[in-house]
Amino acid sequence: MARTRAHLATLLLAAALSHCSLVQGSGARSANRYEFTRPLMGTTMRIVMYAPDAGAAQGAAAAAFGRIAELDAELSDYRDSSELMRLSRQAGSGPVRVSDDLFRVLRAAQQLFRRSDGAFDVTVGPLTVLWRRARRQAEMPDLSRVAAARQLVGGYKLILDEQHRTVTLLERGMLLDVGGIAKGFAADEAATILERRGITRALVAAGGDLRITGPPPESDGWRIAIQPLGGVDQVHASSVMLHNAGVSTSGDAEQFVVIDGVRYSHIIDPCTGRPKTGRSSVTVVAPDATMSDGLATAVAVLGPEKGLRLVDATPQTAATIAVETDARGVETLVSLRWPRQPSGG
Ligand code: ADP
Ligand code: MG
Repeated sequence: MARTRAHLATLLLAAALSHCSLVQGSGARSANRYEFTRPLMGTTMRIVMYAPDAGAAQGAAAAAFGRIAELDAELSDYRDSSELMRLSRQAGSGPVRVSDDLFRVLRAAQQLFRRSDGAFDVTVGPLTVLWRRARRQAEMPDLSRVAAARQLVGGYKLILDEQHRTVTLLERGMLLDVGGIAKGFAADEAATILERRGITRALVAAGGDLRITGPPPESDGWRIAIQPLGGVDQVHASSVMLHNAGVSTSGDAEQFVVIDGVRYSHIIDPCTGRPKTGRSSVTVVAPDATMSDGLATAVAVLGPEKGLRLVDATPQTAATIAVETDARGVETLVSLRWPRQPSGG
């Protein structure tokens, strides 16, 4: 799991502020707005929902957080005891039966691996280990070790057997890292738990990965503000109104290191074995947060041109990218389907 910690939420949530308190629908059941936060998966989990009463809201939030905690225990790459790490330790020794959750995450990851021509690759583990240490120590890793780690990376060496629910990692030393997709998956699963309890108007934020269900009462959607590169600037933040969608931001706002004047992000290009450099931030909207999370990471790897092409070729998705260059300052680009809505608020 990526340790984003407080992830200075690149997305500022101004979740339907006009509906903060009691909302009476004409003849419909009244619904109050409730909000809960909990630290999980190395970040802050936030749930905003409309529920008939506090008891229903608290029960639903506890169940949703419980589900996220369960996924954290399965998918974390920071805990040796997680199912993901146990699977990695069996690399090179044939098929391993895995839980339904892990299988579903890896299935989504592999679809994106193929769609992104290998830019999104959960087998980057050996590289993330090296570069995380580099970030901590602010020191370049030994490039021969980077080259060796690079040899172990490749999604084509990760085999899923749908029928037997097994996963095979073809080479010893392979290491999975689902940090680029697991928070989105967790947000989706939490939203499903809420829906099962009758909460159909909710927002689940797993750091910078959001899953939104139905709109707040008497509203067209949840207003999601997108923070521009370069700091908290409410005035220049653009915003979109959304419901029933996933929204993810992948950027280097929080996790980066500067070595010899070069800014290295926590997103690794599997082709080069090196982190992306420079400043950029990608926000993706998709039907669910598993997809928006993975796709945002993929676009961050691919860069604006190829990244936006991937988004345009992926049905029901849209993206905006802000990139900073020395020559032109911050430039903002959008995909063909990026919702053009009046901003402000
Ligand atoms: P955040 O963790 O900040 O929300 P992302 O969703 O973009 O951001 O995930 C970044 C994480 O994804 C990294 O910390 C690492 O664990 C993992 N990762 C890095 N490079 C790749 C890649 N090319 N493909 C898949 N996952 C990656
Ligand atoms: Mg991601």
